[in-house]
Amino acid sequence: MAEAEAHRLDAADPGHRHLFHLLPAEGGDHPEVAYFAGNSLGLQPRATAPELHEDMTTWSRIAVEGWFESDRPWTRYHELVAGPMARLVGARPTETVVMNTLTVNLHLLMVSFYRPAGERTRIVIEDAAFPSDSYAVRSQARFHGLDPDQTVVRLRPRPGEDTLRTEDITAYLAAEGDKVALVLLGGVNYLTGELVDIPAVTAAGRAAGAVVGWDLAHAVGNVPLALHDWDVDFAAWCTYKYLNSGPGALAGLFVHERHLGDPDLPRFEGWWGNELTTRFEMAPVSRPPATADAWQVSCQPILAMGPVRTSVELFDSVGMPALRERSIRLTGWLERLLDQVTADRPLSLVTPRDPARRGCQLSVRLAGGSAAELSRRLRYEHGVIADSREPDIIRLAPVPLYSTYHDCWRAAVALAATVDRHPGR
Ligand SMILES: *Cc1c(COP(=O)(O)O)cnc(C)c1O
Repeated sequence: MAEAEAHRLDAADPGHRHLFHLLPAEGGDHPEVAYFAGNSLGLQPRATAPELHEDMTTWSRIAVEGWFESDRPWTRYHELVAGPMARLVGARPTETVVMNTLTVNLHLLMVSFYRPAGERTRIVIEDAAFPSDSYAVRSQARFHGLDPDQTVVRLRPRPGEDTLRTEDITAYLAAEGDKVALVLLGGVNYLTGELVDIPAVTAAGRAAGAVVGWDLAHAVGNVPLALHDWDVDFAAWCTYKYLNSGPGALAGLFVHERHLGDPDLPRFEGWWGNELTTRFEMAPVSRPPATADAWQVSCQPILAMGPVRTSVELFDSVGMPALRERSIRLTGWLERLLDQVTADRPLSLVTPRDPARRGCQLSVRLAGGSAAELSRRLRYEHGVIADSREPDIIRLAPVPLYSTYHDCWRAAVALAATVDRHPGR
């Protein structure tokens, strides 16, 4: 495998690495770690700390006045995030708001959009759903007095296959849709890296009379989204993965315009969901605005807003279409290198090969070995940070903002060397 080719590709297609804090390598041949875990926690943008410092300074200088008086009054701070965030997910600014964390938002959205009635009680998720989503939907079923084992349907790939087929999802909805209250799938699966056909599944679910929501934790900032045009009912996502907003950062949500201002929609409310113009009249009954802001509950954690604002503005300036193009080139390069490595080793690619059916992440299965042990060796012997999911999956995410072709070359070489040196693992 030609290292020179990797350098040539990097010179021709450089990305935006200079905007991030890279991890220094501890010894070895390379000055920096090759970071492939941006699908888990994105790197810190250089612009984040100065932004955060500005908000700290506003607090120390004017304290309570900051809510109304600062350059960016805290009562409206989330609106600065809503514009660029809406562009990133293909929404109108009134359809998105940043608040809480992902699973909390899923619960708040299910309060509004999971309304089992009569025979229509089921919640459809994917069998490889992220555990938090599994627990959330099961607890929602129980909250409505339903048996989660009967209520939650887990869609599985066909025997011998690793990923779901769109036609199998839509066929289920066509056959059983009259019993389905809610479809809640991951847009990009966290484990396999599969990008589900969001518009096709949304259309099939809605045609069956179900509500269709999406968990976009691994999709946002990774693949282009058009939530409004795709007629998605609701969606939620975190911002610490591809959006690089920091550990436990604030999450986003989307509610389609057709649901905004609907007085019949149930909601768990708090004072921040009261429209701003009357919020501080302290009236006993809330007057929510006809925007996604109505889902806000508590006053916003302003010191957590700056990192999200910095991140979405960065995506806004680079542009998702350009990032997606680089992502397809970079992941395609990693795939070609991995094909050379996996050919005669107990490794196989789990992620779909069609670029239209995946984001940047490639998942590799290690037959008969410990993925956790392999990822430890990659880290400590080669300075390559990938992550493992028990028992046998290694996930590699070349992130188009900051990963390089040379990083991919290092990952492939390290994977081959590690598997060869420790065949038993
Ligand atoms: C990362 C991730 C989560 C994490 O949820 P938090 O509430 O942010 O802890 C949930 N669901 C999916 C699909 C994820 O990828």
